[in-house]
Amino acid sequence: SAQLTLDVRVARLRAQHVLLLIEDRTHARRVEEIRRDFVVNVSHELKTPVSGLTLLAEAMDEARDDSAAVHRFAARMQIETSRLARLVQEIVDLSRLQGDTALDEPVLVDVRACAREAVGHIQLLAADKGIVILTTLGDPTVPAEVYGDANLITTALRNLVENAVNYSGDDTRVSVTVQPGTDFVAVVVKDQGTGIPPAELDRIFERFYRVDAARSRRTGGTGLGLAIVKHVTSNHGGEVTVWSEPGQGSTFTVRLPAARPVPPDSPVIPGKI
Ligand code: ADP
Repeated sequence: SAQLTLDVRVARLRAQHVLLLIEDRTHARRVEEIRRDFVVNVSHELKTPVSGLTLLAEAMDEARDDSAAVHRFAARMQIETSRLARLVQEIVDLSRLQGDTALDEPVLVDVRACAREAVGHIQLLAADKGIVILTTLGDPTVPAEVYGDANLITTALRNLVENAVNYSGDDTRVSVTVQPGTDFVAVVVKDQGTGIPPAELDRIFERFYRVDAARSRRTGGTGLGLAIVKHVTSNHGGEVTVWSEPGQGSTFTVRLPAARPVPPDSPVIPGKI
């Protein structure tokens, strides 16, 4: 009977092995599928500004004797070009964040400075819509620091603030609040905008996913902003969460592990000094 139980165990192990192999293949297939979808999406997204530019160049050529029209077409070409540049930049950022290439050595980052800079970038856009951005940085004597990459954190916060402005009506309020804590530094970005239907909440962090594609494109959105936010936060060991109610607005919260300062009264290790 000892032999029997041994046989049973061997058979079980084999079955487990086969199962693992199948899971592995399914996983590989899924990764391949995701990659293919991404390439299809990227080419689709690139086509829009490229064909826009082609048409504008043709129109400009036809209108060459009408200097006002030439100016108008040139201005629109600039819009399309910056959209294209942004799309390319975001694709590069995202593949860097997802790939095996190591990010820069983490350094001490002041999250307040990142939040301030992110808001600064969006200030003009907000002012155009009569939106006031209220920034609350909290007690400056309490550090709000994390280890990581300041540029990436600023980019992530900027994407959140930009969305808050883009998906809100004129003359509304957006608030950006930094909350330092012992374990986490949180940044809360709150708007009074369109909100997001509950069924879509899970999907908005996917690459190229948009609730309203036409609206996103009108404001120059690429559909990659929240995917970048998600990857930046997870690369920093943190998380991003969202609360939203259609018609009420949305609240995005980024939590990053706080850099633990060395307590001033920590015991001196003998032999170290
Ligand atoms: P986009 O470039 O389209 O803004 P994102 O990845 O930043 O791409 O966001 C994905 C989608 O999530 C948006 O197209 C929009 O439908 C929705 N969304 C993001 N932020 C907000 C917000 N603050 N309020 C309402 N909808 C939002």
